[in-house]
Amino acid sequence: MKKLVKGIVEFRKKRLPDYIEKFAHLALGQAPDTLFIACSDSRVVPNLFASTDPGDLFVIRNVGNMIPPCGKKGLSTADESEAAAIEFALLNLNIKDIIICGHSECGAMQALLAGREISKAPNLSSWLRHGQAGIEKIKEKTHPQAHNHLSKENVLNQIENIKTYPVVQKKISEGKLKIHGWWFELSTANVYAYEEQAKDFVLIDEAQAEKILERISGK
Ligand SMILES: [Zn+2]
Repeated sequence: MKKLVKGIVEFRKKRLPDYIEKFAHLALGQAPDTLFIACSDSRVVPNLFASTDPGDLFVIRNVGNMIPPCGKKGLSTADESEAAAIEFALLNLNIKDIIICGHSECGAMQALLAGREISKAPNLSSWLRHGQAGIEKIKEKTHPQAHNHLSKENVLNQIENIKTYPVVQKKISEGKLKIHGWWFELSTANVYAYEEQAKDFVLIDEAQAEKILERISGK
């Protein structure tokens, strides 16, 4: 935590002058157009890898970037915090895109592959059940890259989970919302986007970025 405290002093001295107007404007209200759902992992840094500024992203972060599915009466089947953030994002903010972003070397995926039971961590062990659906799709569970394959499957499963919420279904049917699956590779800092046609995650380079921009500007 020492780095954080020293970092505040550093920010106030060197960088705040460049941001002061931005924050004064943001104090009047936020208008992000994207809900970004990522893992709590400290190495996943959307502000850095997607060059975002304060006010750009509304964010949900939890272990394994998971969204418990909807149950009866539009209520979450588990923790309400994810569903509450989704409702706020769609009903109170002008969110047009939701990105669910998994990542390589995810501890949650490794724990899932190892059987979910984590000693002295009953809440964590239980929470991981929301990623269980991906396990069945992994054929070689002992493959050295199995956890990374699972992480990608998990992104697709969480997209299905988020689509179980009536508020999400309504926005999609009105053409006001798109859901995207992304995957961040730690060793290269590359970001991949799931392409329905290719049935795979494709590197977001300039050409792929053009393709995505074309698709989302069609709204
Ligand atoms: Zn993770």
